[in-house]
Amino acid sequence: MQIVTSVAAMQRLARQWQRRGACISLVPTMGYLHEGHLSLVRVARRHAGKEGKVVVSIYVNPTQFGPKEDFIRYPRDLKRDLKLCRAEGVDVVFAPGDKEMYPIGASRRDDRTARRAVPTFSTHVVEGNLSKAMEGASRPTHFRGVTTVVAKLFNIVLPDTAVFGAKDWQQAAIIKRMVCDLNFPVKIIVAPTLRETDGLAMSSRNKYLIGNLRKQAVVLWRAIQKARATVKKSSKPIPATQLKTDLKKFIEREPAARLDYVEFFEPDTLSPVSKVTRGTHMALAVFVGKTRLIDNARL
Ligand code: AMP
Repeated sequence: MQIVTSVAAMQRLARQWQRRGACISLVPTMGYLHEGHLSLVRVARRHAGKEGKVVVSIYVNPTQFGPKEDFIRYPRDLKRDLKLCRAEGVDVVFAPGDKEMYPIGASRRDDRTARRAVPTFSTHVVEGNLSKAMEGASRPTHFRGVTTVVAKLFNIVLPDTAVFGAKDWQQAAIIKRMVCDLNFPVKIIVAPTLRETDGLAMSSRNKYLIGNLRKQAVVLWRAIQKARATVKKSSKPIPATQLKTDLKKFIEREPAARLDYVEFFEPDTLSPVSKVTRGTHMALAVFVGKTRLIDNARL
């Protein structure tokens, strides 16, 4: 397995592979890998084939974190990640540093006291519709950071296919939209959410769940199951507002849980629905203590 940290070296390698006709499959991650990530790697291998190349990118992208979010303390363990990738038969881990992804020019003296670094980066990719609700409403600059870094990764790794997790349903929908709108020659594959045995969706942020917060975090999955059961036993569609009120009460019975949002929508268009039936998609974000967790599922 090769470890590549420079953009130029990664592009050179990808071009070589392309010339030889090898299929390239990319799994973009922020590292601190868990079984959910590794399941995406297996899907990528199936798509790339034995002769193809699987690239896992590991980069905690600063531009998708808000100023008050957990960028600094986001868990990182590159050594362990490399070991896991090697065991999965990954061909290349692309792990660039911040300066490689977002170059900073020479520092400039702006006034008598402060030296300020001049960013040489000023182009962003913005999806203007699907990015507005849910995660976009709670984290206003998040998706701009995601689409920009994913577009960069596509231009660096030159993948034929890229695998994303259904765990971040809205993100996957936005990436598919971007690829279609901007004609990226990349096929987007969305792989299912992997869960712990008690239903908690695997996430690098689960590391923050100390003591009894870990148990309380299962409330996201229990809320999905409750909504599913409600929809299943009702003979007619259920008003979304009513279900939202009931679920908020249900979730906040856990002492450390605070609902950020719960939304019901069409799975492909993300259009909110006012009546919930089987097949409606549900997504929610909940603070468990200070940790913000998300989950989603089809009802
Ligand atoms: P992250 O490192 O959290 O940015 O996630 C990288 C990729 O892994 C994204 O496409 C996520 O949707 C996906 N992912 C994260 N958690 C899971 C999970 N529990 N099951 C499947 N895919 C996941």
